[in-house]
Amino acid sequence: MGITLRGNKAMCFKGHDTASPSFTVSKARNTWRCFGCGEHGDAIALVRKIHGVGFMDACNWLCSHFGIIGSEVPLGGRARSIARVTSPKPVDSQTSAPSARPDPELYAWLIAHCGPVKASLGTTYLQAHGIAPELALKFGVVELVNSARAYRELEKHWGAERIRGAGLSGSRRALSWFGYALLFPFKSGAATEYLQVRCLESSMKFFGPSGIPKPMFNRHRLSQLQPGSLLHICEGVPDAIAMEGAGLAAVAVLGATSFRSEWVEELLPFNLVGIPDGDAAGEKFMKCLANEFRARSKSIRFVIPPEGMDASDVIARGKNA
Ligand SMILES: [Zn+2]
Repeated sequence: MGITLRGNKAMCFKGHDTASPSFTVSKARNTWRCFGCGEHGDAIALVRKIHGVGFMDACNWLCSHFGIIGSEVPLGGRARSIARVTSPKPVDSQTSAPSARPDPELYAWLIAHCGPVKASLGTTYLQAHGIAPELALKFGVVELVNSARAYRELEKHWGAERIRGAGLSGSRRALSWFGYALLFPFKSGAATEYLQVRCLESSMKFFGPSGIPKPMFNRHRLSQLQPGSLLHICEGVPDAIAMEGAGLAAVAVLGATSFRSEWVEELLPFNLVGIPDGDAAGEKFMKCLANEFRARSKSIRFVIPPEGMDASDVIARGKNA
């Protein structure tokens, strides 16, 4: 879920503990607690908090991710046929969480086998975020219509183990997200180092390969900019794409918890403008950036979208108005 444990400690997913980790897990009790913000709960509660989903969706996510068979509940009341595995699965893959590593080859293959965004679900989403079709193409955004079929194709070419190793599935033989989704590739040179999945048919909105730290989106842009140039740091991938479409250089850092101190160095040469979302998480994002750069005596300005909006909403509103 993007939480990196060191022993039983981690940085809280809410992003307030940039100095020292305050999030702890108890493997014995199967619970977690943050001594910074007081949040606590069990595994289901953690999935609910991080993915912002309800109880049922959190259970489904855990089931699909950890190979709990036969307990899937149809999403949104829509019945789905589920091909169940009847033979027991080998125990070894389930007892210990597999260690995931970025798999550029597999990510690139998946992207190449998806098509440009055509379904109205996808085009509507992009338009609402101020992203024109040509701009989506330029950033390699594709649509994945049928996640079950995609898994079968992936398995044929790469095998279940490799898909799991790439963080795209749990121990159940299925992708870790449901329904129609847009895939946003993160490029590092020619390699696809990460994918962000924006689900448009489930209440889980975002999925990123499990166990893989979220890189900075559009990072290679830094190497094209002159020192002193204006650079926008957005909180979401669509925001950064929309800003680029409006002729403004932008990268995206996916929330306060994924900001890495080592990025500060790379960002120092530029004239920085942070663009947090207009919500509580955005406020934390802003504080996190402010702290990181203050520690280096570097100034950063912030442009805060109206409450409940993000940068791409503002750009889309300007365009569509
Ligand atoms: Zn906390």
